[in-house]
Amino acid sequence: MEESEFIWMNNEFVPWKEANIPALTKALHYGYAVFEGIRCYETSKGPALFRLQDHMKRLMNSAHIMQLKTPYKKEEYEKACIEIIRKNKLTQAYVRPLIYLGYGALGMDIKGVPVDSLVAGFKFKTYLGEEAVKHGVKIKTSSYRRHNVNSMMVKAKTSGNYPNSILAKMEALNSGFADALMLDQEGYVCECTAENVFMVKNNILVTPPLMSALEGITRDSIMQIARDEKISVEERLFTRDEMYTADEAFMTGTAAELTPIVNIDERIIGSGNPEHITKKLQKKYFDIVHGKVSKYKKWLTFVK
Ligand code: PMP
Repeated sequence: MEESEFIWMNNEFVPWKEANIPALTKALHYGYAVFEGIRCYETSKGPALFRLQDHMKRLMNSAHIMQLKTPYKKEEYEKACIEIIRKNKLTQAYVRPLIYLGYGALGMDIKGVPVDSLVAGFKFKTYLGEEAVKHGVKIKTSSYRRHNVNSMMVKAKTSGNYPNSILAKMEALNSGFADALMLDQEGYVCECTAENVFMVKNNILVTPPLMSALEGITRDSIMQIARDEKISVEERLFTRDEMYTADEAFMTGTAAELTPIVNIDERIIGSGNPEHITKKLQKKYFDIVHGKVSKYKKWLTFVK
């Protein structure tokens, strides 16, 4: 992460180093916050945010699920995301809006505690590395399961869900893998630590249904692109051993973009290299986010 000049905090631009929060901010103690991650890409018409309105819709939905009364409207957060790019003179970026429980008495009662907001934007390249995007990654089934749908609000992108991801990621990294394959409570494949997963079997693109997995915007983009390319798409449950015999596999996420998976639990997937459908979808995705495909320009918000 490369620091930029300003962070938007409660409708003001604050210098990065001064954008601090009080020690007894409630979100810090209990993980009670909702957030988004949006990418801004370079295009021939200047920087463009990818699917900004959809990210802001999910942010508002997350806040609604968590019963956080947002101090600003969806459109105001959208504007802050655009402004943070301009103000920091960025050409490409990762944008992180966060709506969080502010400073207030500790304990489980959140009545009367202020809800604060921030939007950060900073230069950001690949999440798993350029090699990963090009040649694919090895992943490992986690010993941690995804949250049960009745224990945590899995449809909300809430901070409190993420220690689960961090524990799984650390376990994978410490064992020499790039990421973790996370199963749901029943043992079906769910997603990775911050990415949705796909496999290709007999030319059909398969992804788990949205039970405990986050409704990824990249997932939705890839499914739309695949259908436009006349590739069949199925949402169905599958197990890790079914994935071991997939022809191809990949993960999708704002940060990870489309990263091929070439090995799961020491089983080589297909040829062990990114294959036809994965490469085709990846190329199309990168062309789209960089504004090279007119059909999908509707997904871009240009920062003029
Ligand atoms: N699952 C989880 C748990 C995530 O945190 C993310 C990242 N937001 C994703 C999937 C992918 O979602 P998106 O494509 O919207 O970034």
